[in-house]
Amino acid sequence: MLIKDLMITDPPTLERNAYVYEVFRKVNERGIGRVIVLADGNLTGIISTRDLVNLIDLRCRSSCEKSDVYGLIYRTAEEIMSPQPQVAYEEMEPLDALTIMVARNFGALPVLNSAGRLTGIVTEREMLLLFQDIDELLSVRRFMSKRVRTAYKDAKVRDAVSIMAKGGFRRLPVTDETGKVIGIVTASDIVRRMDKEIRKGNPEEYMGKPLHEVMNRNVLTVRPEDSVNQAAARMIIERVGSLLVLDENGKAAGIITERDLVIALYHQLHLTLK
Ligand code: AMP
Repeated sequence: MLIKDLMITDPPTLERNAYVYEVFRKVNERGIGRVIVLADGNLTGIISTRDLVNLIDLRCRSSCEKSDVYGLIYRTAEEIMSPQPQVAYEEMEPLDALTIMVARNFGALPVLNSAGRLTGIVTEREMLLLFQDIDELLSVRRFMSKRVRTAYKDAKVRDAVSIMAKGGFRRLPVTDETGKVIGIVTASDIVRRMDKEIRKGNPEEYMGKPLHEVMNRNVLTVRPEDSVNQAAARMIIERVGSLLVLDENGKAAGIITERDLVIALYHQLHLTLK
């Protein structure tokens, strides 16, 4: 298999002078979580859901008035993008692309053909498909994060944004007064909802809502003794990017995300090749 067999073709793109509110609209297209920025049709940058969460956090840290949000969405894609992103090529082996993603901590690589034209994108999600063809060797316990950051149900959306931006992750379990997990909020849910609220004209109101009103109550779990292959299969089937490990009281004892699974995959492929 080559990268061209794994990549998503026709990825979401915008020209560099597009406004950031268009980025909010495009970044969740087909669950990709990235927009590729073009200059006259050629690759020049990339913007991820994580970048948008960091921007909201910067703008909304002290106050989150309408003018703060509008000050953000009328900037241009070029001003906020990561320029000259690392790329993959159609004829590359998936393991080489995976190595770049793990070594450089990138969640996605734009894909170019031999003529240097943009033809696709490969993300952590596509890499998870590689688990289908390898042995079940590694456990969830080994690759999950064990110190899970959670937020109380009455905390506000803007608090969740700030915790995710500071922690450098994209999921936040929500707890009740006993510490039991009752829901989860994700960076992509927040960006998707912001897009809707921007169109309605009230994005600042959403930032002040308590998490119990906006969270997803369907918390998907995995057992620490399950294999990373099983976790990957569950994420693909359920179309989610993370699974929680809960203790006997329903408290968070671990979280494993597509990022952790990509690292596990890298580990296993290098182990079996040696
Ligand atoms: P993500 O960007 O959500 O895929 O996660 C990046 C890294 O942070 C992974 O190693 C996750 O296991 C970890 N992580 C994600 N969410 C949390 C959380 N709420 N608390 C602690 N670690 C987390």
